[in-house]
Amino acid sequence: MLSWWKNLNRAITTVIQGLWVTLRVWKSTYDPNRKTFTEHFEYPELPAQVAPRYRGFHRFDVTTCIGCDQCAKACPVDCIYIGKERVENGKGFRLTHFTIDYTKCMFCALCIEPCPVDCIFMGGTLDLSSYSRDGALVDYSRLPIDVAWGRATLNPTAVAESKAVLRPVHGGPSEQTG
Ligand code: SF4
Ligand code: SF4
Repeated sequence: MLSWWKNLNRAITTVIQGLWVTLRVWKSTYDPNRKTFTEHFEYPELPAQVAPRYRGFHRFDVTTCIGCDQCAKACPVDCIYIGKERVENGKGFRLTHFTIDYTKCMFCALCIEPCPVDCIFMGGTLDLSSYSRDGALVDYSRLPIDVAWGRATLNPTAVAESKAVLRPVHGGPSEQTG
């Protein structure tokens, strides 16, 4: 019986705490000059501010990646798909695709740690939504470098355009002409 009352007390307390946060944020949007509640951020015209350690969609440098698969092996939900082929002249591999399935990704950042060349990080981008599951499959090798590296927004339009490109953006000179 005592634990029932404790659980009830905890439920009521946490609900009140949650509502208090909502009320506080709602109140902070009040603009006394305009005497109205207004938008807190100018999103989507300007990017929404996020905390420095926010885990958003990844930042990925396709030009540095060596295709070692360490990130894919570390991923607990197996949502990183890496395609690669041996380079013809020299050592190593060249990426043919580097896809993250954001229907499965849980933004745990475990893929970041093992990368030996520091070419993948959690980024600050939060605005990727789509009407189909296909839109949540992001092939970073087909995104413009600035978008993949988080300097430009990773939005549904950029992702959709990347799917129209037939070859990876970093496919070497011979691949770009096809
Ligand atoms: S953040 Fe986590 S779930 Fe997402 S790709 Fe990286 S390891 Fe996988
Ligand atoms: S761990 Fe780093 S270098 Fe290796 S495949 Fe992943 S992103 Fe590329």
